[in-house]
Amino acid sequence: MRRFLINGEVSSDDADDFQHLLTLAYRDKARPLCLCNDEGVPMYVAKIGDQLVIKRMPLTGADHDAACPSYEPPYELSGLGPLMGGAIKLDPAAGTAALKLDFSLSKRRSSGAGAVGSETADSVKNDSKKLSLRGLLHFLWHESGLTEWTAHFAGKRHWWQVYHHLQEAARTMSVWQQSLAERLFVPEPFRAEEKAAIEQRRAQALSPLFHASTGPKTLMLLVGEVKEFSSARNGQLVIIKHMPGFRLYLEEPAWRRLQRRFDTELTLWGSNETSHLIAIATIAGSPSGVVTINEIALMTVTEQWLPIENAYEERLLDRLTRMREKMVKGLRFELLRTQPLANVILPEHRPLARALYIVPQGADERFEAALREMIDARPDMSAWIWRTGEAEMPPLTV
Ligand SMILES: [Zn+2]
Repeated sequence: MRRFLINGEVSSDDADDFQHLLTLAYRDKARPLCLCNDEGVPMYVAKIGDQLVIKRMPLTGADHDAACPSYEPPYELSGLGPLMGGAIKLDPAAGTAALKLDFSLSKRRSSGAGAVGSETADSVKNDSKKLSLRGLLHFLWHESGLTEWTAHFAGKRHWWQVYHHLQEAARTMSVWQQSLAERLFVPEPFRAEEKAAIEQRRAQALSPLFHASTGPKTLMLLVGEVKEFSSARNGQLVIIKHMPGFRLYLEEPAWRRLQRRFDTELTLWGSNETSHLIAIATIAGSPSGVVTINEIALMTVTEQWLPIENAYEERLLDRLTRMREKMVKGLRFELLRTQPLANVILPEHRPLARALYIVPQGADERFEAALREMIDARPDMSAWIWRTGEAEMPPLTV
């Protein structure tokens, strides 16, 4: 049971008139206060499918009590910390986050297509002032609550939930003073009996790609689950789930770069039948009606849609999702692979919340020093460390 102050009235989510109060708050765009602490934390009412739910505003998870379901562990322990105030700027009054992107959403007509992600995230440059494609995908995932898992979600997280939460998260973000939701396409769950209506809505949503004009081309963002790659003349087709009959074209050189750069993601996806491969891409339309990929990045997620970046994380999550404890998956955003982050946080662990760190094989002294610093900075949390080069996974229950 949770208590909220809604339109001046204290209510709990098990009250008979709770849905009615939410309906009024949604209509009036009122801000319910979560009463998990004395001041109350402002939240908002969102429509997920046909259900009204109270959601936290961007990056306010740390304001909630540690025992509150809306609580989130400190952002400094993931790649989100360095982005706050730079690449991601909050407007607390509007409840939105303004994003600075490291890639373009428009394109000169003559330039060639087919870049593969911006190289920031995995190469030498580590500029936290802008979000790469992968960084944006991480932020969308994080804000959608798709990094959190409790036993309560078992069997209840499918593309339907992923789709609705991504859409809702995009509504709380803006790029160049425009809502991200207007530039982001996420395919809705496909139902054969509604095929015509779904295709109609898709064509409508993607119509900005085909506006004839002489200025720069409009690009849109697409986030979807990859069904398969199949070869085409001079390139590859990327087939996205829930978009039957729809083809995304990737030029051959870009396909080769994609295989190199996202080798780990593709291997993780290929080696586990329950995993999903998520693509984020900027896409462009051509006069012939073909949709081409301009830039693309990939992310592998588990059966529970929790992101993983290597087989160690996969094994850790496999163990953790069998336990009953709430867990929050940490994401790398723009951090380099040579920098530590809390791979998972168990916020309800007692006596202290726990941060779980995976040290990769061959980690150098700088990695160890940075890890030590992160652990020392949070005396309120206990640390669990798995040195993958030295030992099997330590027990999780001590
Ligand atoms: Zn709360």
